[in-house]
Amino acid sequence: MALAEADYIWMNGALVPWHEAKVHVLSHGLHYGTGVFEGVRAYSTADGPALFRLDEHLDRLLRSAKMLRMTLPYRKDELRAATVDLVRANGHRSCYVRHLAHLGYGVMGVDPSGAPVHMSIGSWEWGAYLGDAEHGVRLMTSSWRRNDPAVVPTAAKATGPYLNSALAKVEARDAGFDEAVLLSTDGYVSECSGENVFVLRGDVLCTPPSSAGALEGITQDTVTELAADLGITVRRENLLRSDLYAADEMFLCGTAAEVTPVRSVDNREIGAPGPVTGKIRDAFTAAVTGADARYRHWLTFV
Ligand code: PMP
Repeated sequence: MALAEADYIWMNGALVPWHEAKVHVLSHGLHYGTGVFEGVRAYSTADGPALFRLDEHLDRLLRSAKMLRMTLPYRKDELRAATVDLVRANGHRSCYVRHLAHLGYGVMGVDPSGAPVHMSIGSWEWGAYLGDAEHGVRLMTSSWRRNDPAVVPTAAKATGPYLNSALAKVEARDAGFDEAVLLSTDGYVSECSGENVFVLRGDVLCTPPSSAGALEGITQDTVTELAADLGITVRRENLLRSDLYAADEMFLCGTAAEVTPVRSVDNREIGAPGPVTGKIRDAFTAAVTGADARYRHWLTFV
């Protein structure tokens, strides 16, 4: 997806012009995928742009870094302030924000000791991430299995393991689908290349646990809370591939994809977006835009 350039990138403590945010080709992170990152959205609200659940995203970034034994050179409050400064400097009304901590230039070989940790934040305007978010997207089950928690810490949002997502995404796109859903090594539904999965069975929403290799999604958590407030039961439990085919409704969620209905899986029709998906989407929109006062504590105003 082409990038809509903005004016500035925050890099190692300062705002630098977009095209000057460069790294050395011998950066450790480029060779070995040693980095952790986050994706956050800012939405236009009646009180100006607001970052949605920035604190939870920064907490996850710090947890991811800890799992990789990376020491970030900035505290959470410094990163929060830097994020707000960047969105303000770029003059966005709404945008996507990408935090990245990667190991830089200075050592070679897999052993990362001694490599400097570089911190950057980029922001740009980004619309709907997945195909036809209104009418629903078409999924295929990937032939690639999801990263296994016994192989890499799948709870960390680390750069290297995203090779798994990219392989699955390319395979799905080449086969004419919008997105890939990946199974865990023992055959349970894990997640999509960049989204968590929800399935409606009767009147219960089910979403796979992180033990199936899925990221602990912040949007997944948001949906769980919104659903509870709507009186909808949510269960975190393992799902089989056939549970997707039998779903009454299905949707994906993630910061980039927001709440995106699923129309079919492996050419088994689920159908047009259903009423529960609609309710969750409306509640999500009201929460992120500040229209529902119950969720304003999730907003960091720019
Ligand atoms: N799974 C994967 C693999 C992802 O990349 C993302 C996006 N960060 C998600 C799930 C959803 O997470 P979140 O709702 O925190 O953006």
